[in-house]
Order: sequence, then C-alpha cells, then structure tokens
Amino acid sequence: MQKTELKIRLLGDPGLRKKAHRILDITAQHRAILSQMAELMYKRSGVGLAAPQVGIDEQMIVVDIGEGLYKLINPRIIKRQGKQIIPEGCLSIPGITINVKRAKKIFLMAQDEYGKPLEIEAEDLLACVFQHEIDHLRGILIVDYASFFERLSLKKKIEEIKNKAKAKAETKEVISYNNQKKEGVF
Ligand SMILES: [Zn+2]
Repeated sequence: MQKTELKIRLLGDPGLRKKAHRILDITAQHRAILSQMAELMYKRSGVGLAAPQVGIDEQMIVVDIGEGLYKLINPRIIKRQGKQIIPEGCLSIPGITINVKRAKKIFLMAQDEYGKPLEIEAEDLLACVFQHEIDHLRGILIVDYASFFERLSLKKKIEEIKNKAKAKAETKEVISYNNQKKEGVF
C-alpha cells in the first residue's frame, strides 16, 4: 500500500458513510496501519479512531481512554446492557459535541493485530468509545443521534465542516504529494 501519511476525513467525506469490509487475511500492512492510526489518535488527543476516518474501508479501530491501547480488527458487539448518555465528540466532526444514548456495558468479540480472537467486556466511557468506533465501521456518525433541536443549533457548524471537507477533497492530491502537514483546529 502507499506510504502516504494518514489524514483524518471530515464530515461530508463519502468514505465516512461507507460500510467497512471485514478483514479476512490480516497482514503486516494492517499492523502498520493500526500503528499509524494509534499515532494519529494520540497526536490529535483522541480516545479512538476508526479506519474509515482515515479513508480505509476495512474493519479496524484503535481505542485508548488512558487505560491502555486496543488495536482491534473485525470488532462486533455481541451483548449490550444498561444505558448511559455521554457527550461525545469526533475527530471527523471537530468542535461538535452530541449527547449520545448508548449501552453502559458491552461485550465484544474481535481479533488482535495477529488474528488472535479476543473477547472484551467494557463499561462506562470505554464501552461508549468502542460503540462510537464500531459505529464508524458501519458508516454511522454522532450527528445521526442528534435530536431535532441539537440539529438546528448545530446546522451552521456542520455546514462549515462539510465545506471544509469539500475544500480538503479538492486539494487532497496536492496535499498528499507535498506530504505537508495540514492540521486543522478542533
Ligand atoms: Zn468518531
């Protein structure tokens, strides 16, 4: 695969709405991408990042809420318990926070970066972040959970981000060829 620097796609980028493919054959390339994703997540002070956010339509996520790094392949939630509402942000939707109702506790199955099956039990914030990232693999974003009034009050901001995504898409080639660092404010 190309050795270009990973870039975070913003709301409006069609890649964020695609369903990511299940990975059948885990390779060194996937491990390299997961490491780069983790690096980018830390650099942007995020707690999670999903492959579609960097333009890769495969089922990979990285998560770290400060209790250790998870690099997961093909994650899927097999059980949900309870409810919680946590205000969530997203690296692809800078400057916006939405209250999302999610399960308080989840059980998920995934594979590690070498294909070993994993079973993970998560609660509270960690459960929330896993659900957020797994949503990304299905093309679901936090704005989809916004109430009517939240949508109204965020309309202008969302349009701004979409315009920014459009401008970015138009200059994407130039940016990746020059290998410039293009850091947005968020
Ligand atoms: Zn997100």
